[in-house]
Amino acid sequence: MSDDKKHNFDHADLVDKIRHEAMVGCGSSYELFSKRFSRSIDSHASKMPDVERQEFMEKAKKGGDYMTEDEENEAFDGCCSHGIDWGFCPAGCDRDDD
Ligand SMILES: [Zn+2]
Repeated sequence: MSDDKKHNFDHADLVDKIRHEAMVGCGSSYELFSKRFSRSIDSHASKMPDVERQEFMEKAKKGGDYMTEDEENEAFDGCCSHGIDWGFCPAGCDRDDD
């Protein structure tokens, strides 16, 4: 077994597609877009073999829109899951802790 050929996956199109899908229905909230984009990237990545996943994640992160779940939790601290400040969400979201 000497499969040391350089793998060359072209994930640019897939990343673009995911980015466009994430933009649909998230209004003007960048945090929400980024969250949708990132978690969608994650779910695609989880179905890929390791070597392919690495390339894919690199490509996804290149645009600067990807955030880890930790970063997501930080970004959403102070707003609901729609990325809107508590009390201002049209869906009527409210903090769990009151
Ligand atoms: Zn909400």
